[in-house]
Amino acid sequence: MIFFTTNHKNGFIFTFIKEKYNLKKLTMTKETILNKSSLTFLEKYLNNAAPTGYEWESQKIWMEYLKPYVDTFITDTYGSAVGVINPDAKYKVVIEGHADEISWYVNYISDNGLIYVIRNGGSDHQIAPSKIVNIHTKSGIVKGVFGWPAIHTRDKGKEEAPKPENIFIDTGCATKKEVEDLGIHVGCVITYPDEFHILNGDKFVCRALDNRMGGFMIAEVARLLKENKKELPFGLYITNSVQEEIGLRGAEMITQTIQPNVAIVTDVTHDTTTPMIDKKKEGLLEMGKGPVIAYAPAVQQKLRDLITETAEANKIPFQRSALSRATGTDTDAFAYSNGGVASALISLPLRYMHTTVEMVHRDDVENVIKMIYETLLNIKGGETFSYFE
Ligand SMILES: [Zn+2]
Repeated sequence: MIFFTTNHKNGFIFTFIKEKYNLKKLTMTKETILNKSSLTFLEKYLNNAAPTGYEWESQKIWMEYLKPYVDTFITDTYGSAVGVINPDAKYKVVIEGHADEISWYVNYISDNGLIYVIRNGGSDHQIAPSKIVNIHTKSGIVKGVFGWPAIHTRDKGKEEAPKPENIFIDTGCATKKEVEDLGIHVGCVITYPDEFHILNGDKFVCRALDNRMGGFMIAEVARLLKENKKELPFGLYITNSVQEEIGLRGAEMITQTIQPNVAIVTDVTHDTTTPMIDKKKEGLLEMGKGPVIAYAPAVQQKLRDLITETAEANKIPFQRSALSRATGTDTDAFAYSNGGVASALISLPLRYMHTTVEMVHRDDVENVIKMIYETLLNIKGGETFSYFE
């Protein structure tokens, strides 16, 4: 099928990827969507920090990769970026991911030079102690560490858990003045330096896979459309929204600018097969078993049926998840805008969300790309998805 990049055609490239990323499970005959340049882009895109509210450098990297595959770009005041195919078409379809990653803000610097933080997005206080951090200042990155009292010095009877108010960053400074002399002030954002790894050949691990994978996957859809010379009967808006992690804000803004007819959103969801997750509460979702299709009031039923039927026809595996009330993703922002936009959510199962070792399965990544790609080929221009026709 023309859809895939076959490795025997790209033997030398494959060997390079195999060595660089230790893809031991892939054989020379396995068909894959991701190729050398997509993985190189993914690594660069992930290794660059894009804290909520500060996404523009990351958006530049994303747009540079997407450029050959789109006709034009839209960007907005807060940094959302959209690659557009067929900008003159009246009927508009969005495929979307979010650009931002969770981070911390410098909130208070004590007289003895320790930094206390508040969240920028859902950062996890439990995983902070003993992490190295990047503090973003005007003159560049300053390194610090989340310190923690030694096991020897803690009261075994009543150990304190890490909490937002007791975790602190040590930059090696003895006074507040020394901290300030490094360019650090209240309001500087703090990210983790953790970079892209591949485990056991097919598990991608990094901080911020939520949701850098979304931007990556929709960009790959655009690449496949171009490479396979597919003409769409509508305008396609490949949308990388900012500020999802603090309440879907970028999507709320950009949906008003685009005014789409359809929005297919992709984000991550929880793999629930690792310890201490209650399947009766969270449902059963497993990485490697396929993209997750959401059932929720914000999801337009006919659009979702088109996606599941497309998946079945193309033998793309998928899982289902039920969400009461909001989906907690940009799907809600698109669905409830502009008088109602037919919206659906395709999620990538992920382990350890909002930690620095988020993990996804490469097969799921490829299947989300396939699912979105094949669904787009099944959307007719002018489709209303009306329940009443
Ligand atoms: Zn998130």
